[in-house]
Amino acid sequence: METPRGKKELIEVFGNIYEYINEDGTLKSREWEDKILGFCYLPFPMILAWDKSKTILRFRCHKLLSGTFDLVFKIILHEKLEGYCQHFGGCYSFRVQVGSKKVSTHAWGVSIDLNPVGVISYCLEHSISCLK
Ligand SMILES: [Zn+2]
Repeated sequence: METPRGKKELIEVFGNIYEYINEDGTLKSREWEDKILGFCYLPFPMILAWDKSKTILRFRCHKLLSGTFDLVFKIILHEKLEGYCQHFGGCYSFRVQVGSKKVSTHAWGVSIDLNPVGVISYCLEHSISCLK
């Protein structure tokens, strides 16, 4: 899969979320989530950044990327780098800025926030073409 560049290509590859959004910026139904979401299964547990009493072994993401994300975390484990991604800050999340109608790439489930609070904090966008 070629990495999409810009919103137009994002929509072409991962679906047109704008068809599923109401005027007030809410989702019309669960259809969008039912259509696009799958799971990424983690090879090591991660702590929820917003509730440190909980750990997860899977999370929802775009189904076209679940295999890629599975592979990313397998490589992280293989390279013994899991200590650098202990806190999971979220992947799929429906967010629209009302007014601007700006939709976060998290609404497509193609971005992952790792260690959202900490020294090493980053948003792992779908730009991991080096893993192909
Ligand atoms: Zn992010």
